[in-house]
Amino acid sequence: MATYTPPLRDMQFVMHELLNVTADLQAMPMHAEMDADTINAVLEEGGKFAADVLLPLNISGDAEGCALDITTHAVTTPSGYKEAYKQYIDGGWAALACDTEFGGQGLPLVVNQCFYEMMNSANQAWTMYPGLTHGAYAALHTHGTPEQKATYLHKMTSGEWTGTMCLTEPHCGTDLGLMRTKAEPQGDGTYKITGNKIFISAGEHDLADNIIHLVLARLPDAPPGIKGVSLFIVPKFMVNANGSVGARNGIYCGGLEHKMGIKSNATAQIVLEDAVGTLVGQPNKGMQGMFVMMNAARLGVGNQSLGLTEVAFQNALAYAKDRIQMRSLTGPKAPDKAADPIIVHPDVRKMLLTAKAYAEGGRALLCFSAMLLEKEHNHPDDKVRKESGELLAMLTPICKAFLTDNGHISTNACMQVFGGHGFIKEWGMEQFVRDNRINMIYEGTNTIQSLDLLGRKILGNNGATLKKFGKLIGALVAEEGVNEKMAEFITPIAILGEQMTKFTTELGFKGFQNPDEVGAAAVDYLRVAGHLVFGYLWARMAQVALRQIAAGNTDPFYVAKLQTARFYFAKLFPETATAMRTARAGSKVLMDTDAALA
Ligand SMILES: Cc1cc2nc3c(=O)[nH]c(=O)nc-3n(C[C@H](O)[C@H](O)[C@H](O)COP(=O)(O)OP(=O)(O)OC[C@H]3O[C@@H](n4cnc5c(N)ncnc54)[C@H](O)[C@@H]3O)c2cc1C
Repeated sequence: MATYTPPLRDMQFVMHELLNVTADLQAMPMHAEMDADTINAVLEEGGKFAADVLLPLNISGDAEGCALDITTHAVTTPSGYKEAYKQYIDGGWAALACDTEFGGQGLPLVVNQCFYEMMNSANQAWTMYPGLTHGAYAALHTHGTPEQKATYLHKMTSGEWTGTMCLTEPHCGTDLGLMRTKAEPQGDGTYKITGNKIFISAGEHDLADNIIHLVLARLPDAPPGIKGVSLFIVPKFMVNANGSVGARNGIYCGGLEHKMGIKSNATAQIVLEDAVGTLVGQPNKGMQGMFVMMNAARLGVGNQSLGLTEVAFQNALAYAKDRIQMRSLTGPKAPDKAADPIIVHPDVRKMLLTAKAYAEGGRALLCFSAMLLEKEHNHPDDKVRKESGELLAMLTPICKAFLTDNGHISTNACMQVFGGHGFIKEWGMEQFVRDNRINMIYEGTNTIQSLDLLGRKILGNNGATLKKFGKLIGALVAEEGVNEKMAEFITPIAILGEQMTKFTTELGFKGFQNPDEVGAAAVDYLRVAGHLVFGYLWARMAQVALRQIAAGNTDPFYVAKLQTARFYFAKLFPETATAMRTARAGSKVLMDTDAALA
């Protein structure tokens, strides 16, 4: 079975030494009293919950899966899931970063982000049950009426009720404008909703007393396409005036999907038959509310892959130190043994360091992004709120797609470290690969994220946000440009920053003449942009480590950080050259291929 040690030291490094989050948090009235000790203490306890309660259920939950009773439509989660969920609620974990007005603890989002990383490492499929609730909570918190908030948010904050997002239908996933589910106004402020949704994560289960579905549907007079989609709250059980759970609503699970990974999360086919719902936000403006949920979920999905990258790395590292096979090319390193541990082999180290660099870089990016989200919502300065929101909008598709692609690379590399044993279930490594695979698909496939990044977030505003990110790099270059020790980290990002401006302008120009050029280049572009962001964060991490070492700090943590930074820039960052080259190969080699694809 896989083991897991919460990476608390690295989380503390990212939050307190790299990002200095407490200073930023204290500038916001709601977090004025926040300090590092509180953050660290909460995460230490959260790590215990992940490692002690969730991890032991990961392999058994995968083997057992969920069961549907087709006569009652009830779904039973694997053994131990219900008890773990009760512990989660009793421990107050559901309320961690929720609004105190609705019973939340009001802790910073970055704390919740790190807590979720640990839960994802321990058991991604279980973590999706409470995880979906956070997105639904955010959508209702932003777009719900006071009455809707009063009815639902307390119970969602406590975790007594969970949430879902119901977008996908059998014929429409990416293109939600094709949606058919209908909502008929009843004249009393409610709607009767009828249709079929598929692939709904945590769509039915036995963990909570009620499930609050956020459903996209069409009103009778809705314009065609995405501009005619509205958002509704459809509870599994109606809610009585006193807040208690009432009659069963016409929304139920008609089937469960059998799938490659996350087997213990119920992926439900949801049938709506005259289900009673209420409108969230304005008619035909459903995507506004749903985007709040989707953006939260996109960061959450990147966090799922970060969790899997970390746990896969930890297990592969332990195995590589223990497994002996062959001798080192430079002579025996463990002459007392029949062979050397495989960690002596350069390529085994490359696989391990790939996962380590992607995990630590991903953690830095997601904590950086969680702070932007916090500032966007809670900073007293309008300008900070606006700029944080703009930068986060650009980083969101990178968090989703770059981190999940990196998770795919990393979990596969870590499985490879185990040789044939990685392919055998009992080690848990093949499950990490399988579980990670969906992260590249749902919440908008990684191709769609790339189009969002290049088309909307970069070219859509003439590269204005990219230029602002470039200023962060420029400031670091100005600060460290003459420091010889930083040259190996600063030079690559300074060069890529300049190349990126030219590359983006070139793609914009080509895309203006032929939109397929954007489609052909977008996935490669996102890899380049992801490395630009990672490069910036890795350079800053190297800067912190170098300063500590120069000040005489002998903690090996800083040497490790520096070595990982060097590996990242030498072995992973150069992918940008290939990606720019393939992006520049253009669309003709793809679109002028009817004979090849006949
Ligand atoms: C396990 C699981 C859990 C899920 N959970 C949820 C959930 O909780 N709620 C929910 O609503 N949905 C959920 N989904 C659905 C998921 O979000 C969709 O599967 C995903 O968005 C892709 O939609 P699709 O499957 O219809 O693929 P399609 O939209 O049919 O896409 C097929 C392929 O075409 C590509 N493609 C499509 N359009 C373009 C384009 N314009 N340019 C380039 N390429 C394009 C896609 O990238 C993809 O590779 C889940 C799915 C799974 C498998």
